[in-house]
Amino acid sequence: TYLDAHPSRPSLEDLFEDYLHLLPEYQNIDLEQLTFQRALFGFFPCYRQSPLKPVGDRILPIGDSSGSQSPLSFGGFGAMIRHLKRLTEGIDHALQADLLDRAALSLLQPYQPSLSVTWLFQRAMSVGVNQKIDPNQINILLSAVFEQMEQLGDRVLKPFLQDVVQFPALSQTMLRTALFHPDVVLRVIPHVGLPALLDWTIHYANLGIYSLLYPLGQVLEAWAKTLPPSQQYYFHRWLDAWKYGSGADYSEG
Ligand SMILES: Cc1cc2nc3c(=O)[nH]c(=O)nc-3n(C[C@H](O)[C@H](O)[C@H](O)COP(=O)(O)OP(=O)(O)OC[C@H]3O[C@@H](n4cnc5c(N)ncnc54)[C@H](O)[C@@H]3O)c2cc1C
Repeated sequence: TYLDAHPSRPSLEDLFEDYLHLLPEYQNIDLEQLTFQRALFGFFPCYRQSPLKPVGDRILPIGDSSGSQSPLSFGGFGAMIRHLKRLTEGIDHALQADLLDRAALSLLQPYQPSLSVTWLFQRAMSVGVNQKIDPNQINILLSAVFEQMEQLGDRVLKPFLQDVVQFPALSQTMLRTALFHPDVVLRVIPHVGLPALLDWTIHYANLGIYSLLYPLGQVLEAWAKTLPPSQQYYFHRWLDAWKYGSGADYSEG
């Protein structure tokens, strides 16, 4: 369940009770037939402006504290593994160039349109406090989108399932969903609201721009080696931002 933190939202305990109440039907089993070992439930905070920026010199949040995980899957461990090489190299460069002030370190947790676009997907799967929607709307939306991704094949579906959003795959999925399920798409627009949609359009456009900038930046890599260490640090942080921010770090396997 995706929720905002509005005070009128149900407590975690209430949600857990709902879960137990629905479990027999959902899993087709009576509660009496189950032997409970441990009750595990919780919530994942996520941030609209993720990743979070460093708050001071010489301090760099990483992992969950940086809020760099997808607001869709909350796969913080996977995100950490994915960014490990980028962070290890970046921290090494920062130490070598002695660039440890807040502004320089914030480039190690850069804006990534590939992450920001996912916020709207979460919005499409959550219901506002005063909103009323068809109880099946979210399931219908998910089925329509996943059906199209499946038809587009593994090169579209696999990166998405591994939290990597890429411009061509996203564009094709959206286009096909709009073509084959226009009614579903039309219902999403009032549900998420125009301001959220316009905000998302900026991140979507940036995703396309980052996808173009990354190969251009790669062409300049040999030239960048001639720069002084501090300028090399900035060049490589931007290159990394374009790479990860466009999902170009994805590799099969
Ligand atoms: C139920 C559940 C399922 C999950 N499933 C997945 C999954 O399938 N895939 C995936 O990618 N991710 C998953 N995650 C998320 C993943 O576990 C986290 O993203 C990951 O553990 C974050 O690692 P971290 O080192 O950043 O933070 P943490 O693992 O939270 O480590 C932070 C540490 O700091 C300690 N600490 C806090 N405050 C202080 C303090 N003041 N002083 C000293 N120490 C302090 C804490 O005790 C803790 O040990 C799941 C999480 C949960 C809860």
